[in-house]
Amino acid sequence: MTSTLDIGGMNFAFQNSFHDSMDGFFSPADAAKPSAPDPLIFNHALAVRLGIAAEGMTESQLAAIFSGKETPEGANPLAFAYAGHQFGHFSPQLGDGRALLLGEIVAPDGARFDLQLKGSGPTAFSRNGDGKAAIGPVLREYLVSEAMAAMGVPTTRSLAAVATGDRVQRERSHPGAVLTRAASSHIRVGTFQFFAAHFGADHVIQLSEYTINRHFPELAEAANPHLALLDRVFGLQCELVARWMGVGFIHGVMNTDNVAVSGETLDYGPCAFMDRFAVNTVFSSIDANGRYAYGRQPQITHWNMARFAEAMLPAIHAVDPADVDAAKALVDAIPARFRAQWLDEMREKLGLGQAKKADEQLIDTLFGELEQHAVDFTSFFRALAQLLRGDGDLLRALLPDAEAMAPWIADWWAQLEREAIAPLERADAMDAVNPLYIPRNHLVEAALVAAEAGDMAPWTELLEVVQNPYVERAEWAAFAQPAPIDADPYKTFCGT
Ligand code: AMP
Ligand code: MG
Repeated sequence: MTSTLDIGGMNFAFQNSFHDSMDGFFSPADAAKPSAPDPLIFNHALAVRLGIAAEGMTESQLAAIFSGKETPEGANPLAFAYAGHQFGHFSPQLGDGRALLLGEIVAPDGARFDLQLKGSGPTAFSRNGDGKAAIGPVLREYLVSEAMAAMGVPTTRSLAAVATGDRVQRERSHPGAVLTRAASSHIRVGTFQFFAAHFGADHVIQLSEYTINRHFPELAEAANPHLALLDRVFGLQCELVARWMGVGFIHGVMNTDNVAVSGETLDYGPCAFMDRFAVNTVFSSIDANGRYAYGRQPQITHWNMARFAEAMLPAIHAVDPADVDAAKALVDAIPARFRAQWLDEMREKLGLGQAKKADEQLIDTLFGELEQHAVDFTSFFRALAQLLRGDGDLLRALLPDAEAMAPWIADWWAQLEREAIAPLERADAMDAVNPLYIPRNHLVEAALVAAEAGDMAPWTELLEVVQNPYVERAEWAAFAQPAPIDADPYKTFCGT
């Protein structure tokens, strides 16, 4: 039973297109009732962007809605069905096991968003899981997704986190919480895989048409819209992962059920940012073989997109059998497509204006240098900008000795001098794309430990810092520092 709540005229303006037009693609779901919901954080700026009038709401009204205790008018709560390749193995039956879609809202600018509760109790897809979420992973997703948004990386957003007042049992017992996530949709590669595996062409065509209509309406005019969708999703994934590489982000669980066709970063589980550069960096405790290591993310994207192509083939073939070859050619072109995006990303980070062939060698050789000298990835690009301002202190502090990287720095300098851009102007442009403040692992960990013990202050401060990643502030100096060198290797866990 869905209850509704009168919350002083607040209107979500739900327009539930998936619920209303995609019967058979989801399972209705009801949220578990939390015993004592208490808001941890509410994202007022995002509420304004979404057109949710929350100013007049009391804390208890926010807590009731964004914990699943009360269902707002117009919501049609549902759990999505999906499948997915997990660590390379196909799981035909996954689906939202600890999340439900409240509904879709259309923001004042016309953009449509899913509003989803994560950690709101069991659904038809929970299998043996409890459908709940612990406070740590909820606050990690909130923090990291908002940091990504502040850095302009496409991502789902976090609207609210509410403590439930209930305990969640993992390896040990934790306070429970519910995250409210806003996404341009929750359609995943795994959603297509589910309907391709269990239902066949008709369902894949219906899902593809819905996706095109919702995200890329201009593709409906293409000779083969399904092929055009494939092409668009490939492009968006290449752009997304190039951005991840640029900020040292490691998603950690790039299973096909965690890949959104919208091109937004989805499902912040064991994700983390790299400190000292090492191409094989892995943080996730469940990724023992390093399948989703930093440097493997481009290859995994290629692999995941090949799985997407397989799921889309029935639809592509139905329009024109000859287009199956075109789909294969698109898959084969992904590495080159990714590399072009990645080179653009790296050029921007290095302050290189126009694309030139000579840049490629400079960029390709950078990573070996950073790895050899264990350079802090984030600080390095800020240090280069400082060098342009005539200050080499930051760079010296990052390198083991004065000679380290000297030839590379000289090459970089020579490249810059081929373009007539004033050094100070270039330094400012670099600082505008290279974050100074990222969610560093040791800071995230300390903030989550404090939050779990009931002290939200460190987490709230860290959130403010990472929401303002580019402009240096003297009082935030500690937030720009890498983890102490003797820190234990960092490990992350999936257990939302
Ligand atoms: P993930 O790869 O962590 O995003 O999740 C993989 C699958 O496991 C999804 O279908 C989730 O809904 C499901 N799942 C993860 N944790 C739980 C849980 N605590 N209860 C029920 N289902 C879960
Ligand atoms: Mg997932």
